[in-house]
Amino acid sequence: LSDRLSGVFERLTKQGALSADDVKTALREVRVALLEADVSLPVARDFVKRVQDKATGQAVTKSVTPGQQVVKIVHDELVAVLTGDEDPGKLKIDNPPAPILMVGLQGGGKTTSTAKLAKRLKERDGKRVLMASLDVYRPAAMQQLEVLGAQIGVDTLPIVAGQKPVDIAKRAKQQATLGGYDVYMLDTAGRLHIDEVLMSEVEQVSAAVNPRETLLVVDGLTGQVAVEVAQEFDDKIGISGVVLTRMDGDGRGGAALSMRAVTGKPIRFVGVGEKMDALETFEPERIAGRILGMGDIVALVEKAQETLEAEQAERMMRRFQKGQFNMNDLKGQLEQMQKMGGMESVMGMMPGMGKMAKQVQEAGFDDKVITRQIALIQSMTKRERANPQLLQASRKKRIAKGAGQEVSDLNKLLKMQRQMADMMKKMGKMGKGGMLKQAMK
Ligand code: GDP
Ligand code: MG
Repeated sequence: LSDRLSGVFERLTKQGALSADDVKTALREVRVALLEADVSLPVARDFVKRVQDKATGQAVTKSVTPGQQVVKIVHDELVAVLTGDEDPGKLKIDNPPAPILMVGLQGGGKTTSTAKLAKRLKERDGKRVLMASLDVYRPAAMQQLEVLGAQIGVDTLPIVAGQKPVDIAKRAKQQATLGGYDVYMLDTAGRLHIDEVLMSEVEQVSAAVNPRETLLVVDGLTGQVAVEVAQEFDDKIGISGVVLTRMDGDGRGGAALSMRAVTGKPIRFVGVGEKMDALETFEPERIAGRILGMGDIVALVEKAQETLEAEQAERMMRRFQKGQFNMNDLKGQLEQMQKMGGMESVMGMMPGMGKMAKQVQEAGFDDKVITRQIALIQSMTKRERANPQLLQASRKKRIAKGAGQEVSDLNKLLKMQRQMADMMKKMGKMGKGGMLKQAMK
């Protein structure tokens, strides 16, 4: 794959903004990479389409190729999709005893993950956990959980022969309540394939205990099947999250993206081995790298962007220390503010500027104002931007008119630029720009 990719990148070496063609060519390869990672076809198609719209027209960082830039954009989007709003490691388990229902197909890793998670809850969160196996079908399934429980020092519900899963679940609830447990985990039976009996059984159990979390355990090595399983379980029972197992193997973990895209539910944990501590909190960044399989390209683009930013910051800082702060600088700052969510938040972050942030807020200085100010600067010539002191009455009139604003608006802008230049100079004098350095981090 990487051979094919580097071929594409060699062909795409021109700089500037990403053209629709650049994006298309690179995304063809990305789509193949996603499919090779076992992302389901419709999900891969959707995803690529979305990135295509986003990427076209974006600037290409110096010293990387458009193809590389697209890969980076894809990577970031992948991370964004996989991240969502939730904290994957934080389960809803207040209000003891909180039931956690573990569901999935047979052999997916439910029993192992139940015990791993119980151990984590006990050791990390200091919870008292009770585990119960509802697997009345597979011989020795209940003993398996009992053995694991003994190994990790977590209680298991005493085994009573001949009970139905829903009755075991009720007994677990009772025992958890009486015994003062914080959490009780129900490890259900699986089938090799989804079937009616399995589903209605799990539905009954779910209705009986009303779980706070229903975690779907899926083998990370399965691709398309994982999507169907996730959809089915989510439709019928409603899952709250996913545990992806066997991620210690060669699987690229495309199922994570598919399941997230199809169910919208977060991947919470990742199984990385058979041992009891081989359970990790899901890290979108890592899985994204693995799914795309282009980590070196992503790192390269990040490095190039960092270098560029560092160079720019250095250059700017040297100029500011000399009190050089012209309209180009102001424009840069204004654009930065827009990007970071307004003047207020930026100033709030800068040491000593909290008060100014408040004044700004009171003056009704919002993003619309910033846009208008940038328009004024854009209406200046190159020379004027670099030397704002050139701006006499006639030039001012021309600039204001060009931006569709009043000369008084321009005067306000000029005042702001002078104040900023002043402030930068003062800050520059304070301990070799230590403060400014801080502020610009
Ligand atoms: P269940 O049928 O869903 O309860 O699956 P089990 O928990 O019994 O697991 C089936 C097999 O997969 C066992 O041999 C486990 O040790 C193994 N297994 C579970 N999770 C992982 C994992 O994250 N990595 C690896 N390598 N093996 C796992
Ligand atoms: Mg099992």
